[in-house]
Amino acid sequence: MQMKNIAVLTSGGDSPGMNACVRAVVRTIKYHGLNAYGIMRGYQGMIEGDIVELQSRDVSNILQRGGTILKTARSKEFLTIQGRQKAFDNLQKHNIDGFVVIGGDGSCRGALQFYKDFNVPSMATPGTIDNDLAGSDFTIGFDTAINTAVDAIDKIRDTADSHNRLFIVEVMGRDAGYIALHSGLACGAENILIPERKESMQEVIERIADNNKRQKLMSIIVVAEGDEMGGAHHVDKYLKEFYPNLDSRISILGHIQRGGSPTCADRILASRTGYAAVEGLLNGRSQAMVGVINNEIAYTPFDEVVKLTQPIKADMMEMIKVLSV
Ligand code: ADP
Repeated sequence: MQMKNIAVLTSGGDSPGMNACVRAVVRTIKYHGLNAYGIMRGYQGMIEGDIVELQSRDVSNILQRGGTILKTARSKEFLTIQGRQKAFDNLQKHNIDGFVVIGGDGSCRGALQFYKDFNVPSMATPGTIDNDLAGSDFTIGFDTAINTAVDAIDKIRDTADSHNRLFIVEVMGRDAGYIALHSGLACGAENILIPERKESMQEVIERIADNNKRQKLMSIIVVAEGDEMGGAHHVDKYLKEFYPNLDSRISILGHIQRGGSPTCADRILASRTGYAAVEGLLNGRSQAMVGVINNEIAYTPFDEVVKLTQPIKADMMEMIKVLSV
């Protein structure tokens, strides 16, 4: 069946570059002379029928903007068949033949379930700052998030150095340590604590003892929020049990990592995957996430995306120990 009406939505956690991807999807649909629709607030907007037709001009001047003009949401109702039935009825009202969802693995899971229920074709692009999706070397928003973190940690280092203090900086990443790993390596952090590497706390204790011996008084620990140690506060408490007089400060970077104008790398990734998602749909592909692997477009079936995660590269794990002396 030749598609005539294709929708786009942003879903789950937001990430810088989502707008660039929306733009690429809409412009590619319009290039083919088809109708483009924007679904507001992710799957929740699909359930509520919050759907608008979009022209090429509606996505002008958004390439460089953070956030998402379509808004995003998490939808509990979409987890139920009744919710998904309402969503399907609304797509039918607009004669929507398929959609592109920009989001993380939860959004892929939703699209896969929706296909099983109602046979509506869809493609996804990897919109998440966490970089934890199988099927793409990098995800849309990750590069911007780590550059924001690097900028902040560099500033923290200045004050840490002035006062000879230990700073524990918490970055985002509940289940994945990619942001902590990349920003920590790029800032020369003395320790990086990530959920994927459990043995590291003992190393921190040893490193502090060693630093004391060498009179190295200032140091930065970067910790992922979701580390089993429970983020920066937990790490600080743990360290103070060993070193009650430790002069430490905590800095939680928080949501600044989700905002801001996307970097060039994120704009290109968003544009390439958005374009390829629509081309894929028009060529009869569906139920796959479009990613970039080794600088080539790659389509990974949803059932693989939802089962696998992107493991941290072993050589980078090793580097943490070697470079942060
Ligand atoms: P992300 O896409 O960033 O991983 P979430 O995990 O919150 O974000 O998923 C986004 C939305 O996808 C959820 O709020 C829900 O509406 C939908 N979703 C996730 N898992 C399922 C599922 N198993 N069945 C149906 N919908 C789902």
